This record gives sequence, C-alpha cells and structure tokens, in this order.
Amino acid sequence: MEKIVKKIQMVDLKSQYEKIKTEVDAAIQNVLNTSAFINGPEVKAFQSELEQYLGVKHIIPCANGTDALQIAMMALDLKPGDEVITADFTYVATAEVIALLGLKPVLVDVIPDTFDIDVTAIEKAITPKTKAIVPVHLFGQCANMEAINALAKKHNLYVIEDTAQAIGADYFYKDGTKKKAGTISTIGCTSFFPSKNLGCYGDGGAIFTNDDALAAKIRMIANHGQSVQYVHDSIGVNSRLDSIQAAILRIKLRDLDNYAIARNKAAAYYDKAFANNPKLKTPARASYSSHVFHQYTLQLNGVDRNALREFLAAREIPAMIYYPIPLHMQKAYLDPRYKAGDFPVTEKLCASVVSLPMHTELDEETLKYITDSVLEFVNKKG
Ligand SMILES: *Cc1c(COP(=O)(O)O)cnc(C)c1O
Repeated sequence: MEKIVKKIQMVDLKSQYEKIKTEVDAAIQNVLNTSAFINGPEVKAFQSELEQYLGVKHIIPCANGTDALQIAMMALDLKPGDEVITADFTYVATAEVIALLGLKPVLVDVIPDTFDIDVTAIEKAITPKTKAIVPVHLFGQCANMEAINALAKKHNLYVIEDTAQAIGADYFYKDGTKKKAGTISTIGCTSFFPSKNLGCYGDGGAIFTNDDALAAKIRMIANHGQSVQYVHDSIGVNSRLDSIQAAILRIKLRDLDNYAIARNKAAAYYDKAFANNPKLKTPARASYSSHVFHQYTLQLNGVDRNALREFLAAREIPAMIYYPIPLHMQKAYLDPRYKAGDFPVTEKLCASVVSLPMHTELDEETLKYITDSVLEFVNKKG
C-alpha cells in the first residue's frame, strides 16, 4: 500500500490552526497590544458567547477541566466522607478530585454499547451518604441524563456533568426538547485542553450552571474564596482562564458545529468500512444524544490488540487505548471495597477497545488508508 505523505496523528491541531491562522494570530496580537492578560475583555466576551451557544445562564471560566470539577464539588459544600458516584470507565480526573477533597468515590460500571454510565448500577450504589452523581459524557455523547436526573431528584442528589469530551453535543428529551451537554443538571464542567473538541492552545476549562446563587459561589471559589477584593469568605483556589486562550476559543467556538460535522463524517466513514465485521464493533449511538466524536472507539473481538497497534504503527497510523486500566484497578484508587471482576463491562472494555485517529482534518484518502490497514490486519489473521 502506498504511503501517505502527511503524517497521520490522533489529533491534527496544526492543520486546523493553518485554516484559522490569520484570525488567531491577529487575536493573540490584539491581546498583546492591550496587555489585558488576565480577566480581560476577551475572557468576558468568550464567556457570554459560550453562554449564548450553550443556552446556559452562567459560564465561569477556569484554568482547566480538573479544576472545574474540583471547584464544582467545593461549591456544593460536600463534606469529607460524602459519597460521590461516578463511572469506573473514564479519565482519572473525574475520580481524582472526589478523592482529593476527602470525598468517597463510588464507582459504577458502564453499559457496553455506548460506554455510558449504567443508570441501574447508579441506583444500586446509592446509600444514605450519597450526595452527588458525576456522569461522564464519554467520547462525545451524553449519558442517559433524563434517567440520571430522575434518580437524583428521587434521592435528593446533585448531578455534576463531566462534559470535557462532549461540548456541543445535544441531549434529546423524550418530549422532543433538547439541551446542550453540560447544561442538563446542577453543574456542568468542561476542559479546553488543546485536543478536546473545543480546545485552546494551552490549558483552560469552564463551569456551567443556571443557578444564580451557585454561580456566584463558584466564581468566588475560583477566585481565592473572595467576593470583594481582599475579603475571603471561604477557602478557594486560584483558577483562571487567561485572555490569550479566551481570544483563541472565541474563534474556535464559531467553528465548533462545523468541527462536529467533520468528526461525524470521519466516524461515518469508519462505520461504513467496518460494518458487519464480526471482529470489530463500531461505537453505538445513544437514542438520547447526538455524538460529537471526541474519540472513535472500536471494540475488538478476537483480535490481538497489541499486534494490531504494532501493525498500524509500522504504517505510521497511531491508535490509542482509552482507557487501558479501570479506575478500581489503578494503584492510587485501590480500595478494599473493590476487586477484579467487580465491573465486568469496564474490565472487558479496557482489554478490548482501541481508538483510531479522530479530528477535524481527516480526508477520505487518509481514512481509506487507515480503514484498509485495519481491515487488512483483522482479516489476514483469520
Ligand atoms: C480532559 C478531561 C478532564 C480534565 O481536563 P483537564 O483540562 O485536562 O484538566 C476531565 N474529565 C474528562 C472526561 C476529560 O476527558
């Protein structure tokens, strides 16, 4: 097979930048000219533009997605020992901040086809100490929020959406209405890490809420627990989005829906190429969510994953494993409550998933090269 000249990457930020270079360079230069590096007009403008795009009352920008989760939990006055339920199959940040605040992470399994947190498992995990649920909108589509919100209401729990991977996704209610990921429950948290669907050129994050009092509290916590300058009402943190990042995000926000279209096109190409192959399970679409394909993740069935990755690497095709180890098997989160076998779906996924290159700049030639290569390996090994 002929080799393609342009290097294939999991995420191609450079080609994406080339297309918006003039605007981005001018926006950065403008921040340099005004030298309003922190809390400048770009931050306020981005905040209100994102509020408008998401249809949410308050956006509080912060330094990164992990901070967003931490500040959200601090704002809800959770106390040491309170239990917070989240998915076993996720990026570590979700559980990390729970543990860091002295709260008790309670892990639950996911459902195999969409990788979403299992609502039945959440209900079983609820105890009198449970205070919050943190669903993760993994890989770009929403968890089953209507069911999760109903459970939360029944048991008087907060819901914090981790929407770091699904900004821009739509959640569809049974009555036909829709809301943007991250605006469906008490608080939404996101990350603007460069490789996320709405990524800046450094670190960034934001917290969303429709609750005025909560928004004020979140803003205060993110700013050293300070409501009036040098008056500190609670212990806070220092977590800010800087003006250069905000200026870049304003430009990329205008393209966010087009970025999702490009990602969906690539996903559709992959889906078609791998359809009906018994060794490759393509990612399922939830009925209650659009998909913004932060990742395109296959489940392998009877394929040697390491050998596949080596085969692809020899052709300069990267393929990543998100995530290789379930949270309950990570050394930092080992807990006598959990043992191997407790979360069979997550354990199976960690052993069988592989994510293919997914970004806004994949052309058909590249997609053909990737899918032909995957199929050649999978079919050859009989
Ligand atoms: C990226 C990510 C985070 C953390 O975001 P940072 O900006 O890197 O701190 C949290 N949760 C999920 C699901 C993520 O993918």
